[in-house]
Amino acid sequence: MKTYRIACIPGDGIGKEVVPAGQEVLEALAQSGSGFRFEFTSFGWGGDWYRAHGKMMPDDGLDALRGMDAILFGSAGDPHIPDHVTLWGLRLKICQGFDQYANVRPTRILPGIDAPLKRCGPKDLDWVIVRENSEGEYAGVGGRAHQGHPIEVATDVSMMTRAGVERIMRFAFKLAQSRPRKQLTVVTKSNAQRHAMVMWDEIALAVSQEFPDVKWDKELVDACTARMVNRPASLDTLVATNLHADILSDLAAALAGSLGIAPTGNIDPERRYPSMFEPIHGSAFDIMGQGLANPVGTFWSCVMLLEHLGEQEAARRLMQAVEEVTADPKLHTRDLGGSAKTAEVTAAVRHRLLNR
Ligand code: ATP
Repeated sequence: MKTYRIACIPGDGIGKEVVPAGQEVLEALAQSGSGFRFEFTSFGWGGDWYRAHGKMMPDDGLDALRGMDAILFGSAGDPHIPDHVTLWGLRLKICQGFDQYANVRPTRILPGIDAPLKRCGPKDLDWVIVRENSEGEYAGVGGRAHQGHPIEVATDVSMMTRAGVERIMRFAFKLAQSRPRKQLTVVTKSNAQRHAMVMWDEIALAVSQEFPDVKWDKELVDACTARMVNRPASLDTLVATNLHADILSDLAAALAGSLGIAPTGNIDPERRYPSMFEPIHGSAFDIMGQGLANPVGTFWSCVMLLEHLGEQEAARRLMQAVEEVTADPKLHTRDLGGSAKTAEVTAAVRHRLLNR
């Protein structure tokens, strides 16, 4: 029987609650005759590791992950450690070390979820945002000089390469082509950013020639926020830079009902390295340890993980179980206006997988 080796990195805060919940439902899937099994290895990296060792993960941490089939990640963030340390020391170290250059964020309004857009039916919001995950505004290029003096200067340089833009555009066009509407919106800001974003637009046009069956348009990022609210059905697949997509996907998650539901995959499309799947929410220290965390974002991330492994039927079964659970308001966690606990939602999904 096929065995998939999965690395679990719960990280900080509610990551320590939702990742074990994800493991439980994956285990239930394997037990229910899917024809494969999982071998999980957990890594206790994150804020606690930092307090003990002065870094978020060991220097040779990537080597321990390299042979895995996929990574299930929780969150990195700690109120006592600066955010740039937690982010760069763990999540970005893995994303960049494994060149997971495509960050994929599906958004839909799941059954039973009360989403904030009054004029939007569940079918009107079905998007996938593709975020460039390796360069742009988060390339890490920049620095500070004259520190502590009145003339102090600090720069974060947004760096775009032709190769980096080409590969993310090709990935996004291909993804759009695989979806029923075959439609892509290229998000840009080339009116104000007249160098890199103009190259971004030019490359989008060039790559579009390879996909004559994909309808595509261009939208300025500011206009895109309004379009997401006012005309959600006019969007399908979107591609945007690291920073733009970071912001748009939080808006997308909120429009779909809760940050607790949204999943994401950090993908190495060439499969040279393991890809990493995680809920988009952070460590949410305000609710940690109380069993209040919504595990649905992690379950949906597990669906993406299964799809990446090529286990389409198992992915479909898990998504169906998750949607049956969200359809029942008694199984809604507090972020969705309910009172169910993480463990009850997890047990309900497990039950549906094991009893059918
Ligand atoms: P970080 O600094 O790690 O990004 P954060 O606490 O600033 O974390 P998020 O964790 O993304 O930001 O969440 C913001 C708020 O949304 C939290 O305070 C929490 O109440 C709520 N929230 C986020 N994720 C969930 C979840 N899975 N279940 C329930 N509530 C959630």
